[in-house]
Amino acid sequence: MATKKVLVTGATGQTGSIVVHKLRERADKFEVISFVRSETKAQEKLGSLKGVIVGDITDRASIDRAIAGCEALVILSSSAPVMKGPPQPGQRPEFEFPPGAYPEDIDYKGQKNLIDAAAATGVAHIVQVGSMGGTDENHYLNTLGNGNILIWKRRAEQYLIDSGITYTIIRAGGLMDEPGGHREIIVGKDDSFFIPERNMPHKLPRADVAEVVVQALLEPNAQNKAFDVVTREEGEAPPTSDFATLFAQTTPGL
Ligand code: NAP
Repeated sequence: MATKKVLVTGATGQTGSIVVHKLRERADKFEVISFVRSETKAQEKLGSLKGVIVGDITDRASIDRAIAGCEALVILSSSAPVMKGPPQPGQRPEFEFPPGAYPEDIDYKGQKNLIDAAAATGVAHIVQVGSMGGTDENHYLNTLGNGNILIWKRRAEQYLIDSGITYTIIRAGGLMDEPGGHREIIVGKDDSFFIPERNMPHKLPRADVAEVVVQALLEPNAQNKAFDVVTREEGEAPPTSDFATLFAQTTPGL
């Protein structure tokens, strides 16, 4: 079988780097192009510079160079709020975004650049990873640095659906750094996995999200679907192994 050429953005990020490693391990199925901002960080996080292309999602020309000839795109780039000065005792930390790196710049305009570039070059499938919480415009994550991060991410999800490119939109619950493959993965919609008394979603390991991304590139049942994803506690249920059945539970549209 011919390999599928996949561009991964946010490839030096915490989840993106796991996706790159997983795709490289399946070299019989995938050729990976890793889109990074820093070659030094790529060397450190990815081990080798094989398939690494330096660029920025705010720079359309750099995306065009990286995406040429790719059949699929995985979007794991994201804006990130940074703490404003050192935390003060007894006070909630304040956050801000670097100039030019607000959610509107990265999570909306940047993703729009990626989707437009994908459309222009004939990419067949986009897997977009975002966050749960987007159904609540007053969610506290929107207040961080006045960035409205979930609102901009959701707009980008709609833009992807409207593009007509085959999509898989994966909205993760709270991410944590634990090994993957030990938990049952569950999918839902409309933020139904929120724990109301804590206004927090259930959690899941980044490695499990990364596996969902890889499986979404392989399983037809994941195409033209958008879903929330979390995991049960380890030991509560057998770990997920049948991804075709998992994706069969997901639905089209935002
Ligand atoms: P992460 O580690 O913060 O990675 C984000 C990546 O985006 C980094 O690699 C960063 O590059 C890249 N990036 C930022 N601006 C860019 C630009 N202008 N051009 C190109 N690349 C750019 O992300 P994560 O924690 O793995 O999260 C992955 C996704 O899950 C995000 O969409 C996040 O919002 C979502 N999510 C997170 C949580 C959570 O609990 N943290 C929960 C649910 C969903 P550098 O490596 O160069 O910095």
